[in-house]
Amino acid sequence: VIDHGVPDRSVVTTCAYCGVGCSFEAQMKGDKLVRMVPYKGGDANHGHSCVKGRFAFGYATHPDRLTTPMIRESIDQPWREASWEEAIGFAASRLKAIQAEHGRESIGGITSSRCTNEETYLVQKLIRAAFGNNNTDTCARVCHSPTGYGLKTTLGESAGTQTFDSVMKADAIIVIGANPTDAHPVFGSMMRKRLRQGAKLIVADPRRIDLLKTPHLNEAQHLPLRPGTNVALINALGHVVITEGLEDQAFVAKRCDTQAYQSWRTFIADPRHSPEASEAITGVAAAAVRQAARTYATAGNGAIYYGLGVTEHSQGSTMVMGIANLAMATGNIGREGVGVNPLRGQNNVQGSCDMGSFPHELPGYQHVADPIARGRFEAAWGVQLDDEPGLRIPNMFDAAIEGTFKALYVQGEDIAQSDPNTQHVEAALRSLDCLIVQDIFLNETAKFAHVLLPGSSFLEKNGTFTNAERRINRVRKVMPPVAGKQDWEITQDLANALGYPMNYVHPSEIMDEIASLTPSFTGVSYAKLEEYGSLQWPCNDEHPQGMPTMHEINFPIGLGRFAITEYVATEERTNRRFPLLLTTGRILSQYNVGAQTRRTDNQHWHNEDVLELHPSDAEVRGVRDGDWLGITSRSGQTVLRARLSERMQPGVVYTTFHHPGSGANVITTDNSDWATNCPEYKVTAVQVERVSQP
Ligand code: SF4
Repeated sequence: VIDHGVPDRSVVTTCAYCGVGCSFEAQMKGDKLVRMVPYKGGDANHGHSCVKGRFAFGYATHPDRLTTPMIRESIDQPWREASWEEAIGFAASRLKAIQAEHGRESIGGITSSRCTNEETYLVQKLIRAAFGNNNTDTCARVCHSPTGYGLKTTLGESAGTQTFDSVMKADAIIVIGANPTDAHPVFGSMMRKRLRQGAKLIVADPRRIDLLKTPHLNEAQHLPLRPGTNVALINALGHVVITEGLEDQAFVAKRCDTQAYQSWRTFIADPRHSPEASEAITGVAAAAVRQAARTYATAGNGAIYYGLGVTEHSQGSTMVMGIANLAMATGNIGREGVGVNPLRGQNNVQGSCDMGSFPHELPGYQHVADPIARGRFEAAWGVQLDDEPGLRIPNMFDAAIEGTFKALYVQGEDIAQSDPNTQHVEAALRSLDCLIVQDIFLNETAKFAHVLLPGSSFLEKNGTFTNAERRINRVRKVMPPVAGKQDWEITQDLANALGYPMNYVHPSEIMDEIASLTPSFTGVSYAKLEEYGSLQWPCNDEHPQGMPTMHEINFPIGLGRFAITEYVATEERTNRRFPLLLTTGRILSQYNVGAQTRRTDNQHWHNEDVLELHPSDAEVRGVRDGDWLGITSRSGQTVLRARLSERMQPGVVYTTFHHPGSGANVITTDNSDWATNCPEYKVTAVQVERVSQP
């Protein structure tokens, strides 16, 4: 129960849950936060909110918060409390000793899409400048890294093309592998409003999501594809556009690389991509695919929104390129109401990618091998930088098990719970000589740590988040950090202890440095954010107030590039032993692995993960609603309660991953996207059987 005391002041800040990036007034009474009120002046939410941002803020003052740094020599020893100075010194001396013995490349770090732009920028700077290598990665690796690769390859920029408001001008909306009403609720409501006004809806998803139940829908189609067959479906949609003459020839001739387009045209027109041929792969009726392609291509404004059901596949990057192909072929790029729009899961996925967290890219997606870009950073940072990409997260795990990677600094990410194949991740973490965890709670990863640095919640820091529409929003400090330091200060202290000087006094200085080194951010400053409320990058001399709609005149690469998107079946196959396909998702009241929402009253709305399965799959196994089920995959085993649901198609089961005990990642596989190593969370062959209560 929330204490609704009478507030005496308020601070405008940004929700730290999903990629919608809603603005809130944090209303305070003395030093106590009494309520979060959606801010009417918020450019992303216009005064709306959901149950997470509105009510689930109590975790920030939960008794489980880490308040004191802790250290230990080895993971079988008990923790010992330490001062900040001792803990940072302990971490730095360990890192130095490991590098002296095992080489510069033997250490690295992981930053988080929950942290601010400034914090993320500083972590990658610490790694490149103080560690002296490019072994930096972000948790976006396991969610939207294929978006970065796919959109950069085809459209020339690793970002969504539209504002959220743009959906109000869409005539046809395709939603692929996303569940906006649960995972991006404020935007989901906006989409529903547009659908009630008459926009047509096409949902490509193995599960019948709630958006399809929107009252008074004008036209809605559900394409219930088999998990793992996205690329076959997008190719079939492209095939209909080309073979039925539905392409926008003027757009393609003017805006796209003609040679690449002709190659794609020949490829996609092949009968093996027809809806009839694809039906055997996707399970979606050919007539439905034909109707969907016609609806999208002829509606006027066709907009595509997608989520992790696109990216978290072995062909995640291919699918993103397939979506971009479809949008370019139909001329649905470069104006309001259209576009290609990745719905980012965490609050700052876009920002953590923009800030150079990936091992191959400096901030602003500037490749580490580019001597001009690298030279700019070398001059500003006063060091020589490595020109070779470093290790990605899964490479770090493999190298740790092989014994060549020895130390890891993790800021704000619970890799032991959120990365696939838990047994493999835990083996890697156990192999490290030094694991430094900076977090607000004692998470699963911390069980393998040698140094615990208590982090700060979004209410305790200044900075910025960048939402899914490239909108940079201010995060403002509402209360002092419970452990005395904001996250960027901890990173700065570690850099100084390693002998690399950092002397920022306020995150605005970090943003000034970002702006000086990142072409798409040159016009961004805290003063300008105060003036305009928010800014959508690119924000520079050409676009001093930012750019709401991208690619209106040109693509950053000049002409749009069609890509060949050959469908390759996932290695994860069903057979007699594992006859069902498991896919995963989220629920409205909970967020991600639940570390925050489970420590709020939202816990009462959804207090366990369950396995949804179709009644026909339940019947053949003698399963009734509420029974306990053993779920076995090639990787492991877990136990969940059964929920029978007509939303599922026969042969496909579904669960969420908000509770540590559910162990969804114990059973997911090692398969990953061919281009980015994003894990294939969405396809796991499993067997399900009734078990007695665990
Ligand atoms: Fe927060 Fe997302 Fe809900 Fe907005 S929609 S209040 S950003 S969780």
